[in-house]
Amino acid sequence: MKIYKFGGASVKDADGVRNLAKVIDSAGEKDLLVVVSAMGKMTNHLEKVVLAYLSSGDDLQQLLVDFRTFHREILQGLFPNNSHPVYDSVTMLCQKLENFLKANRSRKHSFVYDQVVCYGELVSTTIVSHFLKDNGFPNTWLDVRSAVITDDNFRDAKVNWEETQKRIAGLVDQKGITITQGFLGSDSENNFTTTLGREGSDYTAAIFAFCLNADSVTIWKDVPGVLNADPRYFGNTRLLHNISYEEAIELAFYGASVIHPKTLQPMQRKEIPLFVKSFMNPEAAGTCVGKGVTLNPETSCFILKRNQVLISLSSLDFSFMMEDNISDVFRWLHEFRMKVELIQNSAISFSVCVDNKFDSLDALLAKLRERFKVSWHEGVTLYTVRHSKPTEIDALIENKQVLLKQESSDTVQIVVKE
Ligand code: ADP
Ligand code: ASP
Ligand code: MG
Repeated sequence: MKIYKFGGASVKDADGVRNLAKVIDSAGEKDLLVVVSAMGKMTNHLEKVVLAYLSSGDDLQQLLVDFRTFHREILQGLFPNNSHPVYDSVTMLCQKLENFLKANRSRKHSFVYDQVVCYGELVSTTIVSHFLKDNGFPNTWLDVRSAVITDDNFRDAKVNWEETQKRIAGLVDQKGITITQGFLGSDSENNFTTTLGREGSDYTAAIFAFCLNADSVTIWKDVPGVLNADPRYFGNTRLLHNISYEEAIELAFYGASVIHPKTLQPMQRKEIPLFVKSFMNPEAAGTCVGKGVTLNPETSCFILKRNQVLISLSSLDFSFMMEDNISDVFRWLHEFRMKVELIQNSAISFSVCVDNKFDSLDALLAKLRERFKVSWHEGVTLYTVRHSKPTEIDALIENKQVLLKQESSDTVQIVVKE
């Protein structure tokens, strides 16, 4: 069987859902597990719901109405008969979300976040499943929370592979079409909803592929495949036809957001090919990530991560930055859930570029100031260039304030203030 994953951009409106059905039709696969994300920007929208709820903001009711309206418009575009059962199913999900907000007593942001944002995927898959059924693709809707089992590290949950493997084997019929949600799981202790980290639906597809020994995974995107640079920020990009797992892991880890970085390890372990293809042009070959050739065509790859924080530490008494200091720094980085992008150290100083994903910078800085002289820059951009030529780097940093540069044999990383 094969695994398909459709992200938010592919199902942002009624036409997107129609196109999804066309893609499935043109591929002609009979045995498919289809992972679907929340529609359009609905996860961002639900993040706003969480913030409004926890801060008792005036806009909460309006945000909830907007969530219902957005999906209602898509439903009306897809199901002209408004007594179709899908209307009740979606209304029930919206009601459940609102009931949770009324009944919940927890003020823990990450916990509330997961219990709320999951409705984006629950609603989108409900709509997609009904639409496919009505258009000649009978399918089973699977609640992924009964299949993907995780720890209770809300917003960044870790998969319990053993339990997940058992559940998936018992729940997924390898014949026919199954529709399920990306990004979600549930914790093994209490069955609360968990999430795997933003953009985690690609990873969900890989989890199913691993557990089902799938033939391949295809993630359908709004780009022709993996390009040698992020097309939002670079012109003249080139399509990468083939990439090895190793190269793809590096690119994704450094921030090539077209593939979620966690996706590649399960794929590599079972040597399952990963295709990245355009949902606008399903016949085109796209990119194949697999065994073998590192990069075809051989070209430099440019990746950028915006809105990072560069923190520089030095000892208060001119003593060396040794293992004990550095191990404490890493412990705190972990404790405050900072994602480390780059480190550099000298005898008496240590610099680290981090992604402040969980908004814990102030708390971390307070901790660091107890032990070190601390300076930091917020809102910096981290460029990572793989397989580059020196002239390309010169062109990249022209007119930019370079705060840090680091080079290894095939990777150059530069932190700049733009
Ligand atoms: P999804 O709809 O699955 O959530 P994403 O928006 O997460 O899709 O990923 C696709 C986007 O990734 C593209 O629209 C593009 O802007 C961005 N992107 C970043 N780096 C690359 C790259 N190297 N190649 C292709 N797309 C890239
Ligand atoms: N809907 C989630 C997000 O926007 C997961 C995903 O799209 O992969 O982060
Ligand atoms: Mg996405």
